[in-house]
Amino acid sequence: MKNDLTESERPGVASGLKYHAWLQCIECGEQYSLSRVIYRCERCDGLLSVEHDPEPIRLTGRERWKSLFESRMASFEHPWSSGVWGKKEWVLPGIDDQHITTLGEGRTPLLSVPAFARELDLEYVGIKQCGISHTGSFKDLGMTVLVSHVRSLIASGTPIRAVACASTGDTSAALAAYASAAGIPTVVFLPAGKISMAQLVQPIACGSLVLSLDTDFDGCMEIVRAITLDPSIYLANSMNPLRIEGQKTVSVELAQQLGWKVPDWVIIPGGNLGNVSALGQGFRLLRLAGLIDRYPRICVAQSENANPLYRSYRAGLGPLVPMQAQKTLASAIQIGNPVSYPRAVRALKEFDGVVEQATEEELANAAARVDRFGLFNDPHTGVALAALIKLRAAGTIAAGASVAVISTAHGLKFADSKAAYHEGRLDLEAKYKNAPVELPANIEAVRAELGRRLP
Ligand SMILES: *Cc1c(COP(=O)(O)O)cnc(C)c1O
Ligand SMILES: [Zn+2]
Repeated sequence: MKNDLTESERPGVASGLKYHAWLQCIECGEQYSLSRVIYRCERCDGLLSVEHDPEPIRLTGRERWKSLFESRMASFEHPWSSGVWGKKEWVLPGIDDQHITTLGEGRTPLLSVPAFARELDLEYVGIKQCGISHTGSFKDLGMTVLVSHVRSLIASGTPIRAVACASTGDTSAALAAYASAAGIPTVVFLPAGKISMAQLVQPIACGSLVLSLDTDFDGCMEIVRAITLDPSIYLANSMNPLRIEGQKTVSVELAQQLGWKVPDWVIIPGGNLGNVSALGQGFRLLRLAGLIDRYPRICVAQSENANPLYRSYRAGLGPLVPMQAQKTLASAIQIGNPVSYPRAVRALKEFDGVVEQATEEELANAAARVDRFGLFNDPHTGVALAALIKLRAAGTIAAGASVAVISTAHGLKFADSKAAYHEGRLDLEAKYKNAPVELPANIEAVRAELGRRLP
């Protein structure tokens, strides 16, 4: 493979060190080349992860990584202008830059919400806005890597006709956008009537073959797994570790934005559970590189209506018991049989993790409460914020702690359910309801209303 980023034409790259990654079974340790189209271990059927040779990353040293990552964060050059590819050596070190398809993902704001932190008696609450992205969710971070990898596979002669995914809405939007940009056909399997209009219209607009199935996400997942037994149809769900590799840059950006420090806690909403394992991978590499010297604790937040991880956590994290997920406002995590369960368990154990859940009322009220400080939280971020409020009330998160909440989608993708909350159309007590006031177009009526309402 050509560029391992050791050539002198690459600005700021450590010389003499080869960065190297491969696929590895998380159960039996069997290794496979990244050029293989393979989603599970051939020996034991375990999940795979992308593993990186630790030595060159460690030997490069903290100062060098710092200056490299900081200079790239300010660069407009391809591919450094992407927040994901600015960390290329930690993601896919071997890929040729000409195969990289980026739509400007990453480099998302970490918004401090001091008034909310004060209400909870916390030192710091920051919301990492991963939904401020091309298709409005963090899935873009994963998809830029998967699609770029597929491009390089195709360029080296691997016969791939299309890329396919099952989706609760955001994966299909991201896949459609990135693959279309790369000129690769896509097939997306969606549960009919279970995703938002904003999510549905994205793959339609990008020209995907959209198959709307009369089932839920878990049903779509089963079908896409069968379809992608044909290696010419490449799987873009997070069972495939190449889909989550880019998502670990969230941890790296988070630490970078905090001056190469980590908060005491990171709270992340979880459905299929790929993202929490990616988060963990990021913190592992940060520590290996010497960029941080301790780990945060992690909380995975689930909707009570789709809480297989929460139930398992309560029962001691034994084997997963799949469940029938019920309808939730947090529709992107309405998943009862999470593929990445074993990866999530590993992350929970390593990061002294906890799992919390939120009812529909708790998640909607938490999102609305924090919206009043100028945010516009989607229901999944609402689940994470509700978990924060509950863990703080229980004392699990101590007074004076610092907390980062991973916001996974843009609130505008869920404008319908947010409007329903404020109009009182949801079957719950909307504590922060703020319905529009209907008035005749009459100056006296308006003056009277202002007199009643303004301080
Ligand atoms: C996909 C998604 C999640 C869940 O991520 P997993 O990796 O499946 O746990 C959470 N929120 C939103 C908005 C998503 O699109
Ligand atoms: Zn194995």
